[in-house]
Amino acid sequence: NRIPRIVILGAGYGGIIAAQKLQKQLNYNEADVTLVSKHEYHYVTTHLHMPAAGTDEPANAKVNILKLIDEFKIDFVKSTVQQIRQQEKKVILEDGTLSYDYLIIGLGGQPETFGIPGMLEHAFFIRSLNAVNMIRAHIEYQFAKFKSEPHRPEYLTFVVGGAGFTGIEFVGELSDRIPELCKRYDVDPKMVKIYNVEAAPTALPGFDPELVQYGVKVLEDKGVTFKIGVAIKEVTPEGVILGEGEEIKSRTVIWTGGVRGNKMIEDAGFEVMRGRVKVDEYLRMPGHDDIFVIGDNALFFNEEGKPYPPTAQIAMQMGANCAQNVVATLRNGQLKSFVPSMKGTVASLGKGEAIGVVGKKKLKGWTAAQMKKVIDNRWLFVIGGLPLVLKKGRFFN
Ligand code: FAD
Ligand code: NAD
Repeated sequence: NRIPRIVILGAGYGGIIAAQKLQKQLNYNEADVTLVSKHEYHYVTTHLHMPAAGTDEPANAKVNILKLIDEFKIDFVKSTVQQIRQQEKKVILEDGTLSYDYLIIGLGGQPETFGIPGMLEHAFFIRSLNAVNMIRAHIEYQFAKFKSEPHRPEYLTFVVGGAGFTGIEFVGELSDRIPELCKRYDVDPKMVKIYNVEAAPTALPGFDPELVQYGVKVLEDKGVTFKIGVAIKEVTPEGVILGEGEEIKSRTVIWTGGVRGNKMIEDAGFEVMRGRVKVDEYLRMPGHDDIFVIGDNALFFNEEGKPYPPTAQIAMQMGANCAQNVVATLRNGQLKSFVPSMKGTVASLGKGEAIGVVGKKKLKGWTAAQMKKVIDNRWLFVIGGLPLVLKKGRFFN
């Protein structure tokens, strides 16, 4: 009797929780579990706007995966997944092949560019630690370039495409970083322009209007210029072209206009909507009882037929539910329907400022900023206990 093999793809919010729950729930020799991820560390995606702007150290958004799992119970493979071969029940890695009996796909999202010309070629994306290291270094380089070519204001013009939560959180951090960079490079702060361009009629479409108004005001006071109800139509090496043909000259375009699922899933021949799999109530791939899809790769609908947004809070709940369902499947037991629990949303606006709704309560300003830290620290606590909170947690400012 061969021991069943469970393979988890991706050590993000969903994948790490799935691995930790499996190592807890499985009995000795009940299954072999392998976790595959691109890097030897888990990166805290929800913190990436800070190292991107340079307001926090990248090290604080990075946790060694071997510190989060029990190596006697889970094999960790640091590799890049290249292909899923569903018929052969195999996953092709850059440097090998893994066979599975049960597969958990948690590879996270990819930027949705809507085919906007030039976006993939010329814009930056806040999507991994390497990507945000490039953004931070690039921004700093623009200050140095401006000093040697002071007639080129485009070096100090930063365009953020999309005023969803990622865009808003990033411009909050960037506006906090600018004074420090101006001082360091001896640049007049008036030369720096930050544009946040949003196609919808409001920033943070769908969020509480009073909080949106408050957030926009906080960010405007910090120097952000919003262009609302205007879409980015094209990105060029010189900048962006907006809906009515207006051009903003800029050497730094950061696209936060949305996420889609992972291309590898559609390449494997599975049915997807914007790269995401419409999973069944147990988070399984339709027609494949051996494949579970979680986090930003999964599309799960509420009773009104609206999909849940791709968030860390849903990804971690999915990780826990799918681990339980894989164990139940192994034991021929009863699977448990996934019932998401939305605790709320708190978005940072930079130092000491945030907006949010927790339960039915609206929060703003310092209180919201503290709540945001509590939420971020909670994730560290869930995956690594108090020692990890003390090492990487956020307590001050
Ligand atoms: P991820 O956390 O993205 O993890 C995917 C993992 O798969 C990564 O470890 C990656 O390295 C690995 N991987 C990818 N491709 C491969 C490959 N080919 N081979 C091997 N490994 C691979 N949500 C909230 O709920 N609250 C927030 O405050 C919040 N803030 C955010 C702030 C920012 C700046 C951003 C960008 C997002 C934020 N989100 C937030 C959304 C949240 O981060 C995502 O919904 C969440 O990370 C999804 O979890 P996941 O497990 O699906 O994927
Ligand atoms: P999003 O899809 O939520 O927002 C993208 C924004 O870009 C939208 O407002 C959209 O109208 C705009 N847009 C699209 N095309 C455009 C164009 N051509 N020109 C200008 N604007 C355009 O994406 P996101 O902000 O990256 O968020 C992704 C997910 O992560 C969401 O589920 C979000 O809730 C979650 N998130 C949560 C937090 C938090 O809770 N603090 C922070 C970041 C992200």
